[in-house]
Amino acid sequence: MPGSTAYTTAATHYWSNVPAEATPACIFKPASADQLSVFLLITRLTQSEFAVKSGGHAAFAGASSTSTGITVSMENFNQVTLSQDRKTAAVGPGNTWESVYDALDPYNLTVIGGRASDVGVGGLMLGGGISFFSSLYGWACDNVVSYQMVTACGTTVTASATQNQDLFYALRGGGNNFGIVTKFNLAVFSLPGGAIWGGTRIYQEQHMPATINAFTQMANNIEKDPSAGSWLTFVNYGGFKVSAAELWHVGQNGSNATIFSNYSAIPSISDDTQNRNLSGYTEKVEAPDPYGFRQYFYTMTVKNDANLTTAAKDIFFEESDLSSVPGSLIVMTMQSITVPQLQQMSKNGGNPLGLSAADGPLTLVLIACRWNNAADDATAYAAGSNTLTRIKDQSMAMGLDVNYVYMNYGAQYQDIVASYGDANKQKLINIAQRYDPTGVFQTLSPGFFKLDRAPVPGTEYFSH
Ligand SMILES: Cc1cc2nc3c(=O)[nH]c(=O)nc-3n(C[C@H](O)[C@H](O)[C@H](O)COP(=O)(O)OP(=O)(O)OC[C@H]3O[C@@H](n4cnc5c(N)ncnc54)[C@H](O)[C@@H]3O)c2cc1C
Repeated sequence: MPGSTAYTTAATHYWSNVPAEATPACIFKPASADQLSVFLLITRLTQSEFAVKSGGHAAFAGASSTSTGITVSMENFNQVTLSQDRKTAAVGPGNTWESVYDALDPYNLTVIGGRASDVGVGGLMLGGGISFFSSLYGWACDNVVSYQMVTACGTTVTASATQNQDLFYALRGGGNNFGIVTKFNLAVFSLPGGAIWGGTRIYQEQHMPATINAFTQMANNIEKDPSAGSWLTFVNYGGFKVSAAELWHVGQNGSNATIFSNYSAIPSISDDTQNRNLSGYTEKVEAPDPYGFRQYFYTMTVKNDANLTTAAKDIFFEESDLSSVPGSLIVMTMQSITVPQLQQMSKNGGNPLGLSAADGPLTLVLIACRWNNAADDATAYAAGSNTLTRIKDQSMAMGLDVNYVYMNYGAQYQDIVASYGDANKQKLINIAQRYDPTGVFQTLSPGFFKLDRAPVPGTEYFSH
């Protein structure tokens, strides 16, 4: 309850300070599906609002926090249980990805999950989930064997390829629109010693054409070595512009892999690529994105194309001058949705994201911004919004635009489910009506990406 230390700790433990400002009426920490069931029935009866929180990494108010109801913290659902045949792991949404990897590491096993240590299992899994292993095995959502979920009617259901197949489809990217997931049974993969090679290489501005070429070519050629991956970040440190490539390769000694030859030919000003352990690597990835700031993610998707990435980089540097904003740092990161990732999306009957291997490879454009004060919110959001508006126009002019918007990188102004296409959206609405006939998750838990709207619709900000 408000005033207790437990309340304050739970209410403020969010990656972004924006949701940490919320003042829920109380925080409920269920320990079983039965307790959640009773909670949802009472919630329906009393028409009380609520927000479900896993790792608290969604950056905007209302996503997993509330000032008009009850926050449901899933922290007690923290099991990681390997099946007897060691083919699946039952993982609760109370875990962070680091705790999952740590639990499986002694068995030389892993699952397909997040790349930053403190991100929660719940949100990442329900929006998609891009992993270091995704060109090998697909996105996290495409490697779920079954879900256990409590519905708005208070029943606990299993969704799998053989049970409630419609829900199994919907949960692989449909977000928090169907119920509260209490368990993810995840396919398990071998990772001897947790071994992965990876790190960051930073390059001066004059090498940006070469880094853009390396990023683009790697996405085009990933079929030759799907153990590898990269993302490319642009940042302006007070007039000193750099690009930073995150490079990784499953197993040891990835620096020798031919797929990195374009990157390796570019002189870098710093390079911390090395052999690592998976959970240690996730700590390194989380470190540049610390808690304690107001933050947002804002995103769009385009085709993989060096000319468009170059234009996007120029637009970003023109639109993103936040030098007068205290505590600010804004970066633009390009990440590939590779053809092997897209191919894996059709397994188990497909997911609702509306993506096809024939359209790949694609590039996710992610604007990540942090700053100190609420007084600068409008300036900070405008920088991301203006950047994406112009990149969208540019991509359309070049015939390289893509409708899909990645839920896990979306800002509150974006209508994510609409981007999955009309047919998939309607299918999700029909499925939600079966499991939540009175629309509890559309009306009483309104703060995240709903089936028919953005969390904050109708603003002047980029909303595609
Ligand atoms: C530093 C950082 C690194 C990231 N790295 C990656 C990455 O490598 N790959 C990637 O794909 N994404 C990544 N993301 C994006 C991340 O996947 C999303 O922010 C995701 O929503 C976070 O999940 P969470 O559980 O921590 O967040 P939360 O804020 O707790 O939850 C997000 C949403 O999911 C809902 N939800 C959570 N659990 C449940 C549940 N059990 N049942 C129903 N609804 C639930 C919540 O209600 C909320 O609406 C990263 C984000 C950050 C900030």
